[in-house]
Amino acid sequence: MNILRRIDALLDSQRQGHHIPPAMEGEGEQCTCLCCGTLFHGNYCPQCGQSRLTRRLVLSDIVAHMASSLTNLDGQLMHTIRDLFTRPGYMIWDFIGGRRAEYFKPVQMLFFLATIYVLLNMVLKVDTEAGIIADIDKEMVDEKTAEALQLLQWGRNIVEWVHANKALSALLSNLLLLLPLKWAFRKTEHGRMLNLTEYFYALAFIGCQHLIIAMVVMPAGKLLGTDTSNALSVVSVMTYVWVYHQLFELSWWRCVRRGIVVALLMLLEIVVLVFLIGVIVGIVAAIKGVGDAS
Ligand SMILES: [Zn+2]
Repeated sequence: MNILRRIDALLDSQRQGHHIPPAMEGEGEQCTCLCCGTLFHGNYCPQCGQSRLTRRLVLSDIVAHMASSLTNLDGQLMHTIRDLFTRPGYMIWDFIGGRRAEYFKPVQMLFFLATIYVLLNMVLKVDTEAGIIADIDKEMVDEKTAEALQLLQWGRNIVEWVHANKALSALLSNLLLLLPLKWAFRKTEHGRMLNLTEYFYALAFIGCQHLIIAMVVMPAGKLLGTDTSNALSVVSVMTYVWVYHQLFELSWWRCVRRGIVVALLMLLEIVVLVFLIGVIVGIVAAIKGVGDAS
């Protein structure tokens, strides 16, 4: 019983997250903002946001400002990272619901993390997509028809682009996930409330989580001398289910089932997109052919 109660308390703390107590009405003496002249109570000016503790600049301010420029960023970033790995779905729900100041903005965070990821990749010299490119090259040697060679070359270019543009490719794959996600969770209580933009932000947070996992796993794989891409795929599938479980407050089993629906719909979407691109390329080629003939 005791253990169950502890688990309950843990789950509850996950749901609530870090709690900031609200300020009491009229807390502190009235003060005149030195920036905009507004009379106010509390720690910050409601008009411009300047702190009430604004006094003459002294030498120690230089040190303090330098330190806070690091710790402010750090504090928010570390807080977001911690929540991404303890209560990701609840955190996303909080962020969407309006608890924004606590967290690092997800799209900015994605670009920031992707930059670090690419740098880390360069330092460690782990070419995560090298295996796929080598496979494509091998097939290109065997393949004789010009069309197949062209297709393989396109595939190779796409893999190289994804590798070089981590943040943009994460955002693009999020765009592909949007409609399947919205459709698969359309009948759930939370799913009904979220619009596509909110889904996009949720996915950006998940993208950040995956980049952090990759940044931890990649050096470990390098040390052990093993290919980590399969392990990473398994972990990211598991984190999706974990996030769905908290974000939509559904049972694990229902999240797994809906996760499979999302994956299938995304595949369908890719097939349709490739087909459409093929049709457009075909039409362009036909028009060119007619132009050349005349
Ligand atoms: Zn002010």
